[in-house]
Amino acid sequence: MTKYQTDVAIIGAGGAGVAAGIEACDAGAMAIAFEKAPEPGGAAAISGGGCMIVGTPLQKEKGIEDTPDLAFDDWMKWGGPSADEVWARYYIEHSLHDLYHWAESHGVKWVDMKPQEGNSVMRWTRSQNNGLGLMTHLIAAFQKRGGEIVSGTEITEIKRDGNRVTGIKGVNTENGAPVDVDAKTVVVTTGGFNSNLDMVLEARPELGNDRVMEGSGLGSTGSGHKMVRQIGGYLTHMDHIWFYVYATPDYRDPSQRRGLVFRQAPGYIWVNQQGNRFHNEARSGGNSASPALMAQTPRHAWAIVDTPMKANMEIADPYYREGDKVARDKVEELLEKSPFIKKSDTLEGLAKEIQVDEKTFLETVSRYNAAFDAGLEVEPEFSKPLKQSKKFDTPPYYAIQIFPLARKNFGGIKTDLHCRVLDKHFEPIQGLYAAGEACGMAGGHINGRAGLEGTMLGPSVFSGRVAGGWAAQEAGHGEGFVGKANRA
Ligand SMILES: Cc1cc2nc3c(=O)[nH]c(=O)nc-3n(C[C@H](O)[C@H](O)[C@H](O)COP(=O)(O)OP(=O)(O)OC[C@H]3O[C@@H](n4cnc5c(N)ncnc54)[C@H](O)[C@@H]3O)c2cc1C
Repeated sequence: MTKYQTDVAIIGAGGAGVAAGIEACDAGAMAIAFEKAPEPGGAAAISGGGCMIVGTPLQKEKGIEDTPDLAFDDWMKWGGPSADEVWARYYIEHSLHDLYHWAESHGVKWVDMKPQEGNSVMRWTRSQNNGLGLMTHLIAAFQKRGGEIVSGTEITEIKRDGNRVTGIKGVNTENGAPVDVDAKTVVVTTGGFNSNLDMVLEARPELGNDRVMEGSGLGSTGSGHKMVRQIGGYLTHMDHIWFYVYATPDYRDPSQRRGLVFRQAPGYIWVNQQGNRFHNEARSGGNSASPALMAQTPRHAWAIVDTPMKANMEIADPYYREGDKVARDKVEELLEKSPFIKKSDTLEGLAKEIQVDEKTFLETVSRYNAAFDAGLEVEPEFSKPLKQSKKFDTPPYYAIQIFPLARKNFGGIKTDLHCRVLDKHFEPIQGLYAAGEACGMAGGHINGRAGLEGTMLGPSVFSGRVAGGWAAQEAGHGEGFVGKANRA
């Protein structure tokens, strides 16, 4: 058995866990993060690295006027009544100083912005080299402060003595040797549960009749939720799962559960099993395209692509990359070998392959093509802008079957504003903290039913800091997280 003793024990070294570690070390505490994967980083390291941040120098450079009030307004309208307005306000006001400038102080560079559905101004802000760039700097900052990351160690239990948490237990994932940790406080930052289809379907049983796919980081299996539930912590809004649509089953996955996200085929159209389009494909977000796909019977569609459209297609999975380049031969292999992708030299043939009504399908494509012949900027049926698109005219044609992909959890462990885990009486469990996607990104349900994007990674890292600060304070170090609000 390997034994550890620390002030703050952190379960999971992703975005929230590493931020918690930095904060705990800055408060003068000893912090150790236990990570079940061979490397730290979690979903944060494979993420797009986009954070919703308000009032940034990048916005000012572009002449964008943004305020916490405006962002809060957008947030509540988009997320709906179940968005946690206290946590949303807390995050938004702290995002400039306690995320943007704080990350910069650890070497992170914020490089550009992208418009996202639901935002009245651009505020999705990307770190250089995406999530990997952000996490590389944060991991280095944690280690520079004396923080330790013990990888290849899966935590399986939170230890408790009466009403107080006293440490954690786990196993070495390589040799099965037990690991026992005594800690003054414990921070749960195990991420979401969208790579555990059983938990997804437990939270959303109505989806059980059709295929939905696992789509988060490999470590996002909900183990923290289970451990917290076991010792009486309260889970909330577990049915708030954020789905995306541009994903096809990973035919190489032996469990047949994972999905592959494909991007950079902007000309494609989606047709349902009746052969009809049903949505403006340029609006591909979780609050527009996902409900549209979910409303189809059966609940899937076909992304139709012609040969030039697939030229830049990317698959968001390490197998399909060579360093920072797309492995084109692997993308071709997917297009040729996946049973979920059909190919034909004619549109008639493609209709037969995907077993849709041929006449309806051909009419759908020819109405779409007619918009190009007429020189329109926007096609009339669903108002898709055509600037980045082309007509379907170059065989072979492909149909990629798409199903809803569970990507992000907007519900989870309930905490207060100090990230203390609450029990069913909404009273804190002594010594236990949680942050990040395990808490639906922060507090339990900060986003509500829909996120403005960048509202996952940003709140995860921020709430990690909050948890680390207060966990250190309870362990006898520092004053707790204070930060700096952006209040004019
Ligand atoms: C492909 C992809 C792209 C994304 N892009 C964006 C984006 O651009 N913007 C945005 O806002 N959000 C994005 N997200 C979501 C965002 O990355 C996550 O919400 C965020 O990383 C959550 O941080 P976290 O620390 O809570 O979890 P994670 O970063 O997933 O870290 C959790 C860690 O805990 C470990 N762990 C789990 N259980 C245990 C255990 N029992 N013992 C030890 N370790 C354990 C996991 O292995 C993992 O390393 C994206 C997600 C994905 C999958």
